[in-house]
Amino acid sequence: MKVAEFVASKGVGGKFSKLELFEAVPDVSQADRRMRDLRPMGWKIDNYKVNPNLKPDEYLVRELGTRVDLGEAPPKTVRKNITGPKRRRILERYGHICQVCGVRAGEEFPDAPGRKAVMTIGHIIPVNRGGTNDDDNLRTECQRCGDESRDITVDPPTAQQVLAHASHRSLKDKRTLYGWMQAGRRTPSDTEAVFQEWSRLSQEERMKVMAALAEQVIKGLESD
Ligand SMILES: [Zn+2]
Repeated sequence: MKVAEFVASKGVGGKFSKLELFEAVPDVSQADRRMRDLRPMGWKIDNYKVNPNLKPDEYLVRELGTRVDLGEAPPKTVRKNITGPKRRRILERYGHICQVCGVRAGEEFPDAPGRKAVMTIGHIIPVNRGGTNDDDNLRTECQRCGDESRDITVDPPTAQQVLAHASHRSLKDKRTLYGWMQAGRRTPSDTEAVFQEWSRLSQEERMKVMAALAEQVIKGLESD
């Protein structure tokens, strides 16, 4: 409500900064989330990524949606949750891996240590563009990639930054990266695949493999 009230006070065409938003709403983490929650209720707030006239910390109010701050009821099916067997079926089909960024359920985000990925079911063609709840329109998406929950208050990296980071990788890493880009998702590396296999062994077998590998590591260190 507070965020809706704040954004509405700026009016259509009004601008505000992230700092102003945080000052208007005491709990910062909530402010972020609440602003995001407004989107499916018809609120349109631009940042500098979609509007080059804005400064990196600036937002422009384009449209006011449901005035929850004035007691208007939000539309009934803002978000269609997929539950039960269908949800499990989709999660299993995609191996609990986000089909957008490749993060696995329960894994930490590579660029946000300590923040673990939670898998949601997302629509390939969003519902508001006519997408259905049929299996072939559903896929696994982490809470960060899900089209309905993308955090508009966190600025995405620029193409320049990403290219700079990619350019600094070794040729081997570049090949791997290129493969993931072609596939449209991150597949586990050979090393990760071996670790996954190892995780499925019994405790006793794991110890055996670990001890044998320790020997190889020590030999490798000696010959270096
Ligand atoms: Zn993701």
